[in-house]
Amino acid sequence: MNKDGPNDWADEPNTPNDSPVMPKGGWRRVIGRHSGERPGPKLLCIAGIHGNEPAGAHALRRVFCSLKERGIPFQGELVGLAGNLRALKAGARYLERDMNRMWTDELIARALQPPKVGAAAPGPGSGHDAEWAEVADLHDALEREVDGAKRDVFLLDLHTSSADGVPFACLGDTMRNRRFARPFPVPVLLGLEEKLDGALLEYLNNRGVITMGFEAGQHDAMHSIDRHEAGIWIGLAAAGCFPGPMPEQVEAGRRLLADARGGLPKVLEILHRHALRPQDDFRMRPGYENFTPAQEGEVLAEDKAGLIHAPRHGHIMLPLYQGKGDDGFFLAKRVHCFWLKLGAGLRALRIDRALPWLPGVRLHPDRPGHLLVSIRISRFYPAQLFYLLGYRKWRRKGGYHLVSRRQHDLKRPRTLCLRPPGAP
Ligand SMILES: [Zn+2]
Repeated sequence: MNKDGPNDWADEPNTPNDSPVMPKGGWRRVIGRHSGERPGPKLLCIAGIHGNEPAGAHALRRVFCSLKERGIPFQGELVGLAGNLRALKAGARYLERDMNRMWTDELIARALQPPKVGAAAPGPGSGHDAEWAEVADLHDALEREVDGAKRDVFLLDLHTSSADGVPFACLGDTMRNRRFARPFPVPVLLGLEEKLDGALLEYLNNRGVITMGFEAGQHDAMHSIDRHEAGIWIGLAAAGCFPGPMPEQVEAGRRLLADARGGLPKVLEILHRHALRPQDDFRMRPGYENFTPAQEGEVLAEDKAGLIHAPRHGHIMLPLYQGKGDDGFFLAKRVHCFWLKLGAGLRALRIDRALPWLPGVRLHPDRPGHLLVSIRISRFYPAQLFYLLGYRKWRRKGGYHLVSRRQHDLKRPRTLCLRPPGAP
């Protein structure tokens, strides 16, 4: 077998419907590739950027088998990439550090430097380099798929969680991302990625890729594989890869996900993140799943400092029931579609260009899509005004909030290029 080629199922003992088994020798970086006769959009799917989440890889394997066996009319390309190969093999979320918190320009430029053997600080070549090498290798693979693409490139980042619950999508709030997410009959969560630094989707989004994160359910549940498979079929349809009649798998996938959603709201936004430090000894109270409602003041967890109460009413998201992770839980609330439509209208009119006219608000001199908002004045502005216009990420820097939004809100850049400034 070619070491760098896609996983080849032909010599593997399991068929798509068997209970899942990792391929002999582990997953390859390219899980599979399917190209249509005609050019078209490209859908990239990343599975297992957290190594204890192999469900997406198994689902991709099923979709590649179906596309090959059934001869479904197809345009463009579907490419399945594995995330953290070493951690997938070990069945661990990560080995040294979380691979989904390393996608900033600075860290990627560092990962792409040639390894310095014997370096003292953790980094490429230091002996503590599992995820540095993974990130550099995945970045290379993504560059080959994305750079110079003439048509839209979409990316689905496939995840599962330690707690079970309804499948949902995570979206960086651009209009192009919203359009892609619309056909998925699952709750859409806005603002989750904006609470995190170094997530893969933000990095790719800011280079012009249309992105969506998809959380399917509990790590080891069989239904998580079914839901990921449904998500990939719907993603192919949403990207425009089926020129003819929709394959039956798309409608079956929609039914499966709509049944799982039940009566939950269509769109929610994250209001609170309970961040963790390794020494906190955080323990979530049992019984919480994604979307479990919580009342203000409810005891949700405890750590070394005592009980942890819900700071406000909302839905619990991603409660942590595993050893590793930086996030204890999130709280989300419903967003009414009126606000979404209002935001879309204001953005189409480019009202966001007026934000730097507000007192205490100015454009960042070097970073497109970033505003500097004076902390003294920011309390007079409702954060919701900035959210409406896509500015959801707030970070305190000295006397200012650095407020940012995703790039390429309404249209794609002329050329797609992944490499960050400063990389070799
Ligand atoms: Zn994950």
